[in-house]
Amino acid sequence: MARLSIIRWLPQLVLGLSCLLLLSIWIATDSIAAGKTLTVATEPTFPPFEFQSVTGELQGFDIDLMNAIASSSGFRVKYQNMPFAGMIPALQTQTVDAAVAAMAITAERVKTISFSRPYFKSGVAIATRADNQNIINFDSLKNKTIGVQIGTTGAQKAKSIPGSEIRTFDDSPLTLQALINGNVDAVLNDQVVLLYGIKTGNLEKLKVVSSLLTEEFYGIPTPKGSPNLQAINQGIETVLKNGTYAKIYEKWFGIQPPQLPEKSPIENQAPKKGVSQLFTSLSIIFKSLPTLLNGALVTLELTAISVLLGMIGGTLIGIVRLFPTPPLPWIARAYVDFFRGTPLLVQIFMIYFGLPALAQNFGFTFTLNRLVAAVIALSLNCAAYIAEIVRAGIQSIEPGQTEASQSLGLSSVQTMRYVIFPQALRRMLPPLGNQFISLLKDTSLVAIIGFEELFRKGQLIVAENYRSFEIYATVALVYLFLTLLSSQALSRFERSLNPINKKKAN
Ligand code: GLN
Repeated sequence: MARLSIIRWLPQLVLGLSCLLLLSIWIATDSIAAGKTLTVATEPTFPPFEFQSVTGELQGFDIDLMNAIASSSGFRVKYQNMPFAGMIPALQTQTVDAAVAAMAITAERVKTISFSRPYFKSGVAIATRADNQNIINFDSLKNKTIGVQIGTTGAQKAKSIPGSEIRTFDDSPLTLQALINGNVDAVLNDQVVLLYGIKTGNLEKLKVVSSLLTEEFYGIPTPKGSPNLQAINQGIETVLKNGTYAKIYEKWFGIQPPQLPEKSPIENQAPKKGVSQLFTSLSIIFKSLPTLLNGALVTLELTAISVLLGMIGGTLIGIVRLFPTPPLPWIARAYVDFFRGTPLLVQIFMIYFGLPALAQNFGFTFTLNRLVAAVIALSLNCAAYIAEIVRAGIQSIEPGQTEASQSLGLSSVQTMRYVIFPQALRRMLPPLGNQFISLLKDTSLVAIIGFEELFRKGQLIVAENYRSFEIYATVALVYLFLTLLSSQALSRFERSLNPINKKKAN
């Protein structure tokens, strides 16, 4: 019967498959013809080079320039937004054909990617609060807390400041926010971007120290040996000669462009051959393991403190939820709804960046240490979930038991303490265990405020060696190890609380 119906459908099946085949051939040939459409990575949080208008349109010096290069060299551009620190790995794996992101040509970067000829002269500068009279040059940054954007030349420069404490953020606006809030003493980033950010954001509390710490040139990066590099270089050449470059420069900076060198002082390098890939990967993993394990310790520490506070808070809130008369149960319910109904990431941002900014509006300065902000956010959030686990656990015990204990003469507190809670606790353990494991993984979200736990440590290593696969795979394995270990410990604990096991042990 089944065979018959297959035979009946065979012609349709063959027709369908042939159509699919034709379609894929058509798509494939089209993409060869449209070898002219380049996927170009950008990070639109770096004004005036790349940013988004209120309507979400990409704009900026780099975008205008890239479009001009594309039209003069006859290719089309499809922009793809991604974090700056992810661009070099994306170029290495050829996920994108190029990037336009105010990326400086550096000796470290040319080891893994190739750059076009220089298209902009730039340099790293210091931004600090307008009332700070001590930070005047590089030497005065000694022993200060410095905010940088992950993976940038500013971050690289900050490493050479003796005694400094470096805080890394994902993009340039976050570094400036941290500076306004007083979480860092200074920010190192490209001078033009700092000046533009302060001017357009009306950040009159900030200033830029005039001297430059570096001199660098931006280039358009492509994967090593990319066939598109020539077209991009030709495009730059043309727009420089025909005056388009000067027009774009004037549009964004209001002045005539300076003379640019034809070649970067740092030249592209040929791809390395010969070293076994497996050997390189293993040696990269071994080298990064101590740093990652150090991050894992921080993760565990953060989880333990937050879970402890979350348990205390959550138990109280869960019990309050069961009070018979309002308004306390309503308040507890609102708390649970708020912290369960909003993303943890938003809560972290609100606490670390939002609260100090709000305090400043009311005229007083208050800054939050990263550990404190992370612990507050994680424990407030996990308390909401624990409250529900505790409430449901207690409610799951049959009301008859309360009546029975009270008729035996136990007070309400005694009933809760000796009869209800011990039984409820056993029912609560599996969901509490789940909560612990989720929290352990959620700690990775505090990387966003520059807290150097396991995931952030991994990000920082990738920002230096660009080996995303090896590093993130190792990070994932360390998380897996931690969660497996925790679930083992939790199930042992659960078993030890089982009265049947207890009896056996006796
Ligand atoms: N110019 C800096 C660098 O190359 C920063 C660029 C950026 O953040 N988009 O590292």
